[in-house]
Amino acid sequence: MFSRLRGDFPILDVRVGESPLSYLDSGATSQKPQCVIDTFVEYYGQRNAAVHRGAHSLAVEATDVFENGRIAVADFVGGTPEQVCWTKNATEALNIVAMGFDRASRGFGGEDAQRFALGPDDSIVITEMEHHANLVPWQQLAASTGAQLRWLPVTDAGELDLSELDTIVDETTKVLAFTHVSNVLGTINPVNRLVDRARAVGALVVLDACQSVPHMPVDFPTLDVDFAAFSAHKALGPTGLGVLWGKSELLNTLPPVLTGGSMITTVTMESAEFMPAPQRFEAGTQPVAEVAAFATAIGYLAEVGLENVFEHEKELGRLLLDGVATIPGIRVLGDAAERIGTVAFDVDGVHAHDVGQYLDSQGVAVRVGHHCAQPLHRRFGVTASTRASTYLYNNVEDCERFLTALAEVRPFFG
Ligand code: PLP
Repeated sequence: MFSRLRGDFPILDVRVGESPLSYLDSGATSQKPQCVIDTFVEYYGQRNAAVHRGAHSLAVEATDVFENGRIAVADFVGGTPEQVCWTKNATEALNIVAMGFDRASRGFGGEDAQRFALGPDDSIVITEMEHHANLVPWQQLAASTGAQLRWLPVTDAGELDLSELDTIVDETTKVLAFTHVSNVLGTINPVNRLVDRARAVGALVVLDACQSVPHMPVDFPTLDVDFAAFSAHKALGPTGLGVLWGKSELLNTLPPVLTGGSMITTVTMESAEFMPAPQRFEAGTQPVAEVAAFATAIGYLAEVGLENVFEHEKELGRLLLDGVATIPGIRVLGDAAERIGTVAFDVDGVHAHDVGQYLDSQGVAVRVGHHCAQPLHRRFGVTASTRASTYLYNNVEDCERFLTALAEVRPFFG
């Protein structure tokens, strides 16, 4: 099945100079199957209109496309369509949550929003392996409210060190925000254990699901998280679209950050009443073509089956790890038992940017730099790494081409 579906991705036929493309950078953004590209084009060619407000047929059709996308996401990650709020990307979704806490701390949202209010006696807990998107917003919240920012450290194996969990997450903790899967190490974190601790102290849980939703079966209600965020572009969908998922009762009381058209019920010159979720968080004109295309992407993923995607990538990840281990002078960051097919490493004596450039000269596309996780790189004593990340369209040949080119890097740079 996986060898057949490569043909669905036109970009895989692009050549890089003389070489075929081996795209191992899906952790940054995924490639798109033709059906997703077609949906995007078809939307603008056949259905384009402003949603919700129009009385004409096209507007009704565009609204159906938009709302059906929400239903598709709810079917995909669990919950009801009302729990799915469209955002620009995961970064915006995470900011909406953190900034909603901030607004509640300033008295916005009244009594109902007080459960989100923080002050100097409270703490916010994150982890040392967060992408900056799930780190900086919480730093900002801590700075503006006086709450203490704490984090769970990372072990040499690239797993969360939970030995002090009960001390770090304590009765002062109002929110525990962590990534489901590390975008650098590929580590899958133990959501249940963390949620259990958060529940024991009454903290709310925010899950960064950017690297889990595209690669493995994920059901937010089963995980029992309060909020979750992910981006469409990492899951075969277009850029410009993200999802903020939340428990309805929380979404309906979290103060919105972006206000204006399409999210209100009544407006006077002095004040405004907000709609319930999801519209409450969808001010302004929405990315309808992106939603349409993402619904197609979700359908595609569901047809392949996320369990199959996960197993396929695990096999490729194992090939990468085993292969890298045979090349002298390479140190893989982390060695987690539970992981997706993502491998980050340091090449002795060669800067990651040079590694990336050499691999590119052989048609192999990887990510280099800090991958928006500077503290994690500092933890491993490096400023940058090279990351190979797999997806459903990768095959053994991609891994072999990558390993062959990587083995040439140190000899090449002498
Ligand atoms: N969180 C994780 C774990 C990620 O890997 C990324 C993207 O790399 C993000 C958050 C941010 O996603 P976006 O840039 O689409 O908002």
